[in-house]
Amino acid sequence: MNLLERRLIASAFFCAATVVTASAAGAQNAPLILDVDASDAPISSIVHVHETLPVAPGEFAFAYPRWVPGEHGPEGPIQNVAGLHVTGGGQTLPWSRDLADMNEFHVDVPAGVSTITVDFDYLGSKDGTYGEARLATSTILAINWNQFLLYPQHADIATTIVQPTIVLPGPDWTAETALPGPTRTGNSVAFAPATLERLVDSPLDAGTVFKRFTLLDSGGFTNEIDVFADRASQLELPPKKLGGFEAIVAEMDAIYGARHWKNYHFLLTISDAMPGNGVEHGSSSDDGTGGDGLTDPESLSGTAGLLSHEFNHSWDGKYRRPADLATNNFQVPEQTELLWIYEGMTQFYGDLVPVRAGLATAERFRDGLANIYAGEDHEPGRATRPLIDTAAAAPFLYSAPRSLSGERRTAGDFYVEGELLWLDVYAKLLDLSGGTKSLDGFAHLFFGIANTPPMVNPYTYAQFVAALNAYQPYDWDGYFKSHVYAVTAHPPNPFEALGWKLVYTATPNSAEAARAKFRHSLDAAFSLGIAGNDKGAVSDVLTGSPAAKAGLGIGDTIVAVDSREYSSEVLIDGIKAAQSSSAPIVLIVKRNDIYRTVSIDYHGGPQYPHLVRIDGVPDRLAGIVAPHRPMPK
Ligand SMILES: [Zn+2]
Repeated sequence: MNLLERRLIASAFFCAATVVTASAAGAQNAPLILDVDASDAPISSIVHVHETLPVAPGEFAFAYPRWVPGEHGPEGPIQNVAGLHVTGGGQTLPWSRDLADMNEFHVDVPAGVSTITVDFDYLGSKDGTYGEARLATSTILAINWNQFLLYPQHADIATTIVQPTIVLPGPDWTAETALPGPTRTGNSVAFAPATLERLVDSPLDAGTVFKRFTLLDSGGFTNEIDVFADRASQLELPPKKLGGFEAIVAEMDAIYGARHWKNYHFLLTISDAMPGNGVEHGSSSDDGTGGDGLTDPESLSGTAGLLSHEFNHSWDGKYRRPADLATNNFQVPEQTELLWIYEGMTQFYGDLVPVRAGLATAERFRDGLANIYAGEDHEPGRATRPLIDTAAAAPFLYSAPRSLSGERRTAGDFYVEGELLWLDVYAKLLDLSGGTKSLDGFAHLFFGIANTPPMVNPYTYAQFVAALNAYQPYDWDGYFKSHVYAVTAHPPNPFEALGWKLVYTATPNSAEAARAKFRHSLDAAFSLGIAGNDKGAVSDVLTGSPAAKAGLGIGDTIVAVDSREYSSEVLIDGIKAAQSSSAPIVLIVKRNDIYRTVSIDYHGGPQYPHLVRIDGVPDRLAGIVAPHRPMPK
């Protein structure tokens, strides 16, 4: 899915307090002192926060971060803040919550007082979203500093300095972070003063079951995976696979040709107890997969895709960022419309780079593309909701229910349809240039540029299109307006230009087969129009599909198919049998405590998407998925 320094604020920054007195300005130069005590978090799920904030006498407002970079929504978990206590000049200062902005608090600072202390407890939650659900297990601590921060309400996060310290649960806990200057004393780790922006951009993981995999150590640049697990056996990455992760770094270098990080940390939890995650930062990423994320071959390729995606954001999302997402304060709403570039192109490279690096196969990549195309193509919602609106509405679509997602369209659309779009742009660049230009070439110029420290170099849609036009002249604005901004009957289809075409057959492709096994899912989306699980629970029914016309709905459980007890195999057998019969597929369905019969008049057989070669047309996809890094001779 998140650092900011130099930026152009294209969006309006509404700020009530614009008059800063000389004394207040002086006070704001003093750093915030932030002491985070996570010593008992593995047991209590509570983190104790003690802060010293520079203030001036009079009314003072401070805020809890609402818009956390990389989360693309107002996700700051304010509901987990409790025990708020403020003192100044040796006395308790009563606080009040702002009634219009509930993440904001007010106190009256007495005359002569230049600092206040703020104490609160952060109450961890297992059922929240993003970082919120990832606080602590018996062996792992996942720290997102924004959760443990109250800061002056209108502070410029690029210039406001904080001095952070964290207390770990014990002497055997190892901590890793991209935050500069760690100094450990006992269980306490102090860091060099940093901007609020750098702090929140530098999560910290700690744990008792830890292993570091160094991917790069050359010329002052380092890149490592810091793995925190439940048990030591989960750390056993097959030695042959380590080379694949090293190759991910080399492949990104081959695309971008410049780095915006000096010491990169993949902070990776491999755990069945800690929920998964994937949030980008400039010099690190907050990553999490299940307990077999390094040791099971199928899960390992998923882990490679996750790390590749989040790493790509160091260039696309963190360094180059849509200006409307580069705000200078965590309370200023982000405008998410250009996520189809930020996330869409990252989804493309996140899936592609593991293939180039040898951690995923070309066949799986193609099967994944076929599934994406078929899924997007069958969404009833595309008749009324253009792709751009899934990005514009991302702040609430991320948390929308999964059911009826085809009708609604979701935040997932600008990721996966974005992947098709950027492959299509890749194909078009090859076509227009006679094979001399590619998306990699444009990415190098636009997102690479030159080595820099972590920083933000913002762009607008107009600047993006102008840069693409300068690289390869074409009506790119018209192209994006028709594929992204307008309602389109079908997603971009890059396949035929690359020597492939989409067909449907009765055999699940490798990506679908793996998903069905891994997620225990039932996918009959492109035949009956339903998705569910291997217990018969129907989670989605496509509007207008044979199942919908027959009266099947979400929330139904299929109990039997043609008089046989339901299993995914029995349903697929029923779909096959109906191919050579005029009789409908008869389901016994349970909804709450009522059983009924649903007869689906469908005779088209199972339908699964595949990409197959077009004879006589060169296979340009093979060139795209081939390694691009310099290989040893
Ligand atoms: Zn992302």
